[in-house]
Amino acid sequence: MCNHLRVRPLQKLTQSQPTVGNPGTLMENVASFNFFDGLESLLVHKYRAAPVVYRFRDHPGVKDPIETMGIPHTEVDVILANGRSVGFDYQLSHGDTIAVYPPFSTMPAVPLVRLSQAITSPATFVLDVHLGKLARRLRLLGFDTLYRNDFTDAELLRLAVEQERILLTRDLGILKHRHLMHGTLVRSDVVDEQVRQVLDRYHLHGQIRPWLRCMICNGLIETVTKGEVLHCLEPKTRRYYEEFQRCTGCGQIYWKGSHHKKIKKWLASMLP
Ligand SMILES: [Zn+2]
Repeated sequence: MCNHLRVRPLQKLTQSQPTVGNPGTLMENVASFNFFDGLESLLVHKYRAAPVVYRFRDHPGVKDPIETMGIPHTEVDVILANGRSVGFDYQLSHGDTIAVYPPFSTMPAVPLVRLSQAITSPATFVLDVHLGKLARRLRLLGFDTLYRNDFTDAELLRLAVEQERILLTRDLGILKHRHLMHGTLVRSDVVDEQVRQVLDRYHLHGQIRPWLRCMICNGLIETVTKGEVLHCLEPKTRRYYEEFQRCTGCGQIYWKGSHHKKIKKWLASMLP
């Protein structure tokens, strides 16, 4: 006997792709987005598809959906809409195919509108609280680098915007702030890879000026006579070294001790 079994109507199964927006609302327009050269790894989980299908009403600017999908505007250099390079203010239309590229991608041979702004020279930085080691390395390379282990997001943004500094961060969210001009998500956990990412991203190899800044406080370093610092030196340092430099900010004294060779080797490894 099987009359207790209920026969359910078969539900129609359809293959669907991830979409943006609340299911069930009326959305007439559809555009598809593709992300290239590492941007796709920044997509928030629910939008991880190729392409991402985006449903919308009216004609929203292209920047908002890109950031909603997880990509901060600071990570975007070129947007192609149906093969044509456009700005962040491009308004989506039904059927659009959007391609999004970070800086230094290999891109189709079409006239390009570059969206990442030129940085000031020499480059200056402000780093979030997770990047203390990177801050010391950038100072060692001579870059003006602000870092404190208690900077708030508001302070980081203020310093980046007001002083036109490049914000380096491990936090994608802060890069979406609309007033931020220059910023980069630092991807690696390994400090030397972090340094290489920053140098490559902003073409900074020509701006490296070792022994210019204090690793501890970012102050400028000046040459001093041995007599000026004699009272601060340990007996062995006093005996074996003649050349000294001092930070104009915190007073840290530098000389060419055993650490100097190690640093020189590291500096050489950072050059292309
Ligand atoms: Zn100092």
